[in-house]
Amino acid sequence: MATTSAPGPVVSAAAGAALVDAIRATLPDLRLLTDATDRESYRNDETAYLRAGLPLAVALPETTAEVSTLVRLAAEHRVPVVPRGAGSGLSGGAAGIEGGLTIAMTRMNRVLEIDRANLVVVTQPGILNAELKQAVGAEGLFYAPDPASYEICSIGGNLGTNAGGLCCVKYGQTRDSVLGLEVVLADGRVIRTGGRNVKDVAGYALTHLFVGSQGTLGIITEATLRLHVAPPPRSTMLAFFPTLDAAGRAVAGILAAGIGVVTLELMDHETIAAVDDAHRLGLDREAAAMLLVESDLSPAAATAELDAAVAACDAAGASSTIRAEDPTEADWLRQARRLALRALERQGVVRMEDVGVPRGRVPELLLAIQAAADRHGVRVATFGHAGDGNLHPNFIFDRDDPRAPELTETVRNEIFAAALALGGTVTAEHGIGLSRREALVDQVGADVVDVMRSIKSALDPLGILNPGRVFRG
Ligand SMILES: Cc1cc2nc3c(=O)[nH]c(=O)nc-3n(C[C@H](O)[C@H](O)[C@H](O)COP(=O)(O)OP(=O)(O)OC[C@H]3O[C@@H](n4cnc5c(N)ncnc54)[C@H](O)[C@@H]3O)c2cc1C
Repeated sequence: MATTSAPGPVVSAAAGAALVDAIRATLPDLRLLTDATDRESYRNDETAYLRAGLPLAVALPETTAEVSTLVRLAAEHRVPVVPRGAGSGLSGGAAGIEGGLTIAMTRMNRVLEIDRANLVVVTQPGILNAELKQAVGAEGLFYAPDPASYEICSIGGNLGTNAGGLCCVKYGQTRDSVLGLEVVLADGRVIRTGGRNVKDVAGYALTHLFVGSQGTLGIITEATLRLHVAPPPRSTMLAFFPTLDAAGRAVAGILAAGIGVVTLELMDHETIAAVDDAHRLGLDREAAAMLLVESDLSPAAATAELDAAVAACDAAGASSTIRAEDPTEADWLRQARRLALRALERQGVVRMEDVGVPRGRVPELLLAIQAAADRHGVRVATFGHAGDGNLHPNFIFDRDDPRAPELTETVRNEIFAAALALGGTVTAEHGIGLSRREALVDQVGADVVDVMRSIKSALDPLGILNPGRVFRG
């Protein structure tokens, strides 16, 4: 199949200046940041060693109509648009394009409706994940998607990346919680996909196409999301292991036994030490690896579920297992896992990767990550959502180490190759974005990339929306 994607727009200073004038004339009440210092904070997301551009301007719309007008004007002036949520991404998806217009969705942050009868919430995309959880929690309801960054990432960004997190093993990724969307297309038209129906097969599954498209196909301005009745407080245990391999085998054992835990997270030796240094939890610092295992069943059923998980850990050679005494202690342990990246960042610059494998192959991936880092003398700390087969190798460098960007490339490419050889993926939840474009074709092949380009070209023939993200322009 031929490649049909249009090249990205050429951003000229004159076009940029004309766009800013047009925006000011058409939307005089819109908050538009043009000061260089303000724009600078929209250059990067959280991806280390990323070279990103400085946006020409940053627009902060409050309505769908404003987003539509902004995109229409940008298309008229052939200026690229970067949709942005809270900027916590780890692939450069929301990073600036030199001379482009960044549309930050943070002011569109209202919950529009909580529909208890149908167990759905309708929300604007700029709300933080934690704020949405809190709003529905106040009604005794539960929104499941739970990235470790839930306090600093937006629902729009979660939709843009199809974010994962700490409870995918039971509740799935963000896409599994999305029923409907309102989307501004690349020419400014506004469409609605899906709705409140749990079952709906009318035409192509556009809702699922937009989720995970990293702002390259449309800008999501409203989402209808699935809820659950709030489950009981979690019961939590930790298991420590003398080797990475034993921890990997415990993960495989828990999954093979069909034990339906809500959280199955892994931290390796380096991560345990960093988290313990930061939070003083009294973790077993001698251990090579630790699993955090949680149940959200009722107390008696949770005890039985964790008993089964302990048996699987013991069978894999766990050196010890302990249970949280109460929900407060459980919250502490979960929060410490969420803060693993921040704990590692106290030791230097950290570049996080995001590989995944079929879940039974986690032990092999763990060993391959360590071997690749050792080959190049790079310090690696690995943690992640082991229950999903999704691990985050984190390369840690001194702040002024000039070798860091190149070594990061070398080691991660070897890890990508290892993940693919195990039937895995180069990114399980963070996205291809800007930082993993070269790896996409290695994973999916040229024909699949061509199909993706055809979809991009059909929806965005001028290449206005986030060009150069997912694949080169
Ligand atoms: C400490 C830490 C822990 C993390 N843990 C996890 C984790 O457990 N699981 C996980 O999946 N990720 C995790 N992340 C990565 C990040 O938080 C997620 O990718 C998150 O979904 C990004 O949300 P955001 O609002 O910050 O989006 P941004 O970074 O602003 O944008 C992300 C992408 O979504 C697009 N986008 C944003 N808003 C819209 C919109 N309204 N319409 C269309 N496209 C849009 C952007 O163009 C970009 O491509 C972590 C990051 C950090 C820093």
